[in-house]
Parts: sequence; C-alpha cells; structure tokens
Amino acid sequence: MSTLTHLECPECGRTFEADKPQTFCSHCKSPLLARYDLAAASRTLTPDALAKRPPGLWRWHEILPVRDPAFRFTLGEGDTPLLPVPRLAKRLGMANLWVKDESQNPTGTFKARGLVMAVSRAVELGLKAFVIPTAGNAGGALAAYAARARAEAHVFMPADAPQVNKVEVEAAGAHLVLVDGLISDAAKRAEKEAKKHGWWNVSTFKEPYRLEGKKVMGLEVAEAFGWDLPDVIVYPTGGGTGLVGMWKAFDELEALGWIGERRPRLVSVQAEGCAPIVRAFQGGEARARPWKHAHTIAAGLRVPSVFADRLILRALRATQGTAVAVPDAAILQAQHLLATMEGVFAAPEGAATLAGLQKLLAEGWIRPHERVVLFNTGSGLKYVS
Ligand SMILES: *Cc1c(COP(=O)(O)O)cnc(C)c1O
Ligand SMILES: [Zn+2]
Repeated sequence: MSTLTHLECPECGRTFEADKPQTFCSHCKSPLLARYDLAAASRTLTPDALAKRPPGLWRWHEILPVRDPAFRFTLGEGDTPLLPVPRLAKRLGMANLWVKDESQNPTGTFKARGLVMAVSRAVELGLKAFVIPTAGNAGGALAAYAARARAEAHVFMPADAPQVNKVEVEAAGAHLVLVDGLISDAAKRAEKEAKKHGWWNVSTFKEPYRLEGKKVMGLEVAEAFGWDLPDVIVYPTGGGTGLVGMWKAFDELEALGWIGERRPRLVSVQAEGCAPIVRAFQGGEARARPWKHAHTIAAGLRVPSVFADRLILRALRATQGTAVAVPDAAILQAQHLLATMEGVFAAPEGAATLAGLQKLLAEGWIRPHERVVLFNTGSGLKYVS
C-alpha cells in the first residue's frame, strides 16, 4: 500500500492535502513534493521483499502515490538495464563506467516513468482528460498511458518536433496540436485550453507525480549498486524531473536507513544552444533566467524556461555536482561513439551525457577510477525521420 501522507512546498513549507488533485504552490510558484510515512513503508518495503517482486516501477508501491492497486497501470516501464560499457570506458581511460539504458522503456524514453505515475494517480483521483505541452517524447508517453487508462489526451507540440513523436501521439488516439515556436509556446497554449475545457495539465512539475515516477531511476541505481551509490551520475537536463527525482529518491533511501549520507555528484548536461541551468550554476545564481533563441538537435533539452530551477540548482550544489554545456557537434560524435563501440543507439539527449563526461574527464573534474553512470534517456530511433 502507498504510505503517501501529504504534499509539501520545498520553498515555504506549506502542506497540501494529497487525496485531491493538486498542482503547485501558487505562493512560491514552486513544484510540490510528495511525502510518505517512511517508518510505515519500511515495515513491508525491504531490500529482500523488493528483490522478490515482479519487475517494474510498482515494486516500490509503498513510496509511490497510487493507493488502490487497480490504478497501477503499466506498459512494462522501469527496471531498465544498467549496462557496463567496458570498451568505451577503456577508450576514455576509465575503469568503471555504466549506461543506464532508459531507451528500453515503453515509448522508447524515460518519459514513460513520469507519465505512468501522473496518469495513474490522476485517474485514481477521478480525472479523465489530460493535456500536455511537450518537446515530443512526453506527448508520446502521455498518449500511450491515456489509451491504457481509457482517458482522453491533448498534446501540444512544436511543429518542428521529431516526426516519430507526432506519429506515436496520433497512433494512440490522442489529439495532437502543432504549435509554431518552442515548448514554452506550446505550454502557453496548453494552459489556456486546459482552463477552458477543464483538462488536467501534466506539464513538467505543474503536478507532483511525474517526479515520483522519475525518482524510481534513483532507487534502481541504488539497488543495482548494492546500496553503495556510484561517485557520479551524469544526466541530460531539460525540465529536470529526473535529476530532482533521483535526489529525492536518495533522501528517502537515507531516511529508510538503506544508504548513508554520501551522494553521487550529480551532473547536469545541457546543449550549448539552450543552457539556462549551466549559466545559472556557473553564475552562482539561485534561479535560472529564460534562455533566448533556444536551439539544439536534442529536442528534450530545448527547454528555455525551467520551472524547477531552484530545486535543480540546489541538487547540483548539495551533491558537489556541476553543470556543463556541450555543442551539438559533440553530441553527434558521442552518439556515434556509443553506438559503434557498445551497440547503444542513444537519443541525442542521452549521447550528450557522454560528451559531458569527455569534457569533465579532460578538465580533471571526473577522475579515471571513479564509478560513473551515464543516463541514456531515450532511443536514437525516435529521432529518425
Ligand atoms: C524530456 C527528455 C529529457 C529531459 O528530461 P528532464 O527530466 O525533463 O530534464 C532528456 N532526454 C530525453 C530523451 C527526453 O525526452
Ligand atoms: Zn510555497
């Protein structure tokens, strides 16, 4: 059973009732974080019990928000492989390198993790029609889970989004609206239509539960490393749900007593053509200003305004992490290297983590013996047109 107790604003500490639909803290314009009774969770959630449960996100149901098992929708998301990549490691002069391969999720990206949770919980709370602004992959995932849950989905996507994203949205019977401009323009349209029609907006961090699905990536990494976390996690950052989710996961695991205080240094990789988090991190700022004229081949990183900027920047600083920007040319080279040396055809966003790693190795920020996990967040196949 879920041990969800309430929702909390990380800025002002206000609490919100969890058993009705909630969006974000309107006072602080901040995302809300789901809180659990972890002492109660630990009575049934143990490393041994977990290992015996069928694979997938729902193994962690005590610290996920869905209460009634009838609403645990699934297409087989989660428990993606943590692949050792020894040839690539050797080439880079490293000893311990892994790729967490999220391309093996339903709809080919880790967006499945967030959307299965947002849709399942919202349907449990009685909501039936969804809207999302998306760079592409989140729309594909919403369409699939809405079909699975027999709900309605409206997807607002930039007109120049990858072709496969448009196909998968319509294939699942969702309503696709193409918008001239970026995801931020799509978001404005989606918000307006949501108000008008009463659709539930599952835009990044505008509701609390996509984060809960994404946090399971952190739980899986911890489990795979035998509760002794790696030294560095390199993550391609758009809206930042994965990064903030993993950070939250580690705090919950520490509260459960399964890990200690040590955290992996979290690294946020962005594209040079859209790097609001990198700029804010380097400038020592608490907030990220919107990025003008955003452009990159990594569609999922083309997020000029970041709603969870404060949380992302805090996660990077609290873990002694860093943020790096890489050019599109380096992303393409890294994509080629990963595919030819290890057989992993990564999405450009995933390949960006390898480009970031190369940069951090060259700077000496990552040392050759350190245990490093790269997140390949999606399949390269989704970008073929
Ligand atoms: C959305 C997306 C990202 C960015 O993820 P966030 O968790 O929002 O930062 C990275 N890679 C791919 C393939 C994506 O679709
Ligand atoms: Zn608040």
